Amino acid sequence: MNFLLDKPDHAQRERAADHVVIAKREAAQVPDIPADVPLRPIRRVAVIGAGTMGGGIAMALANIGIPVTVIDADAAGLDRGLARVRANYAGSLSRGKLEQTAMDERLALIGGTLSLADAADCDLFIEAVFEDIALKQGIFRQLDEIARPGAILASNTSGLDVDAIAAVTKRPQDVVGAHFFSPAHVMKLLEVVRATATAPDVIATLMDLGRRMGKVAVLSRIYPGFIGNALFRNYTREAHFLLEEGALPHEVDAALVRFGYAMGIFAVHDMAGNDVGYQTRKAQMATRPTDRRWNDLIMKLVEMGRLGQKSGAGWYRYEAGNRNPQRDPAVEAFIVEESTRLRFERKPISEEEILKRCLYGMINEGAKLLEQGIALRAGDIDVVYVTGYGFPADRGGPMYLADRIGLANVVADVQRFHAQHGHWWEPAPLLQRLARENGSFAAYRAG
Ligand code: NAD
Repeated sequence: MNFLLDKPDHAQRERAADHVVIAKREAAQVPDIPADVPLRPIRRVAVIGAGTMGGGIAMALANIGIPVTVIDADAAGLDRGLARVRANYAGSLSRGKLEQTAMDERLALIGGTLSLADAADCDLFIEAVFEDIALKQGIFRQLDEIARPGAILASNTSGLDVDAIAAVTKRPQDVVGAHFFSPAHVMKLLEVVRATATAPDVIATLMDLGRRMGKVAVLSRIYPGFIGNALFRNYTREAHFLLEEGALPHEVDAALVRFGYAMGIFAVHDMAGNDVGYQTRKAQMATRPTDRRWNDLIMKLVEMGRLGQKSGAGWYRYEAGNRNPQRDPAVEAFIVEESTRLRFERKPISEEEILKRCLYGMINEGAKLLEQGIALRAGDIDVVYVTGYGFPADRGGPMYLADRIGLANVVADVQRFHAQHGHWWEPAPLLQRLARENGSFAAYRAG
């Protein structure tokens, strides 16, 4: 069987589903934290930043009956954020998913203020301001001043160094990462990020809170992008490189959809907005190492005004009022021009090769995370992918898939890609070792 191109049969789908169920259960267990460690009480929570994430996190908490104070530095931002919360609940009400009384109760649990000091009595603070380390450090300095001893100080950063945030406080043992996914009241994944000094009961409390919110909490150590975004970087990078080498957006997306993703990566970019992360990427351009290949197609698209669905054009074009991506000769011509400018000789890329490029980079990165103890087990990585990143559940997750394909087969392709494409494909030592020993990710445990 070809594990990339062939659809899994019924028995294979069942086994993959079982794997995910077991992996979710295991993810709740942290080897060095006893299951009966006393949890810290969470009676009231403050969410700092009333933006996309802050509003969703507040809803997730109110949905399980926890009172929340939402704090924003900007009065208009706070009003907008609370209005979005009300509109989200009203949407659920009108779709018949929520009763009026439940909506009233939940809304009554969510208050807003412009002053952090108003929330001093909270048991947990979840910071969700802009992704800026200095800004976040400033907030944590203030929290250190106002929060009562024993309060948990969490950051929803997507990938900043939680140790650097904890370091500005006198209580690093109380600081932790709580990486929610958007929309936070809907998405089932919560990455709990263990910083160097985070106390075991802080981790256990957050993981339990995640479970109570109906989410799957997965523990990650500090690493750029934690587990989820670290793998995702590899996935998107290769998809974009493929465009320069000869593929077109609809070909990459079609391969991913046939594999089982609900949407291909370029359709996802268009839905999320190609401008997401533009400023960060722009800022990083000046300092990025010159010994490896980069890809700036998405930045050029933004500069052309092709932001995605919201501007009617991105990697595809969209007719008014219709979210169906249509191939766009203009963007395809632009991609071909870029290939020429960069001196790539475009050639057809098979569906299997597209899938290997997009998926094996994730698997190789997953092996690095396991070896460094960033992720506790391969199953945790699978859970992150199936619950937070749309990886087809009936394929069991990237690490499970790799075990099915056979690690010796995976590493052979990783080595071939390393020879062809260099730096980014440096094979993970753990992947090489397990392949040599005929081992599997499933059986691997750190230490
Ligand atoms: P956003 O821009 O929608 O909202 C940020 C809010 O923070 C704004 O309302 C702003 O007024 C407020 N703010 C700024 N400075 C403040 C301060 N000093 N005090 C109080 N409020 C302040 O941002 P977002 O998309 O909600 O992202 C927030 C955080 O969550 C970031 O760290 C981001 O990386 C992370 N995150 C985002 C997503 C996502 O998909 N948007 C997913 C996971 C994590």
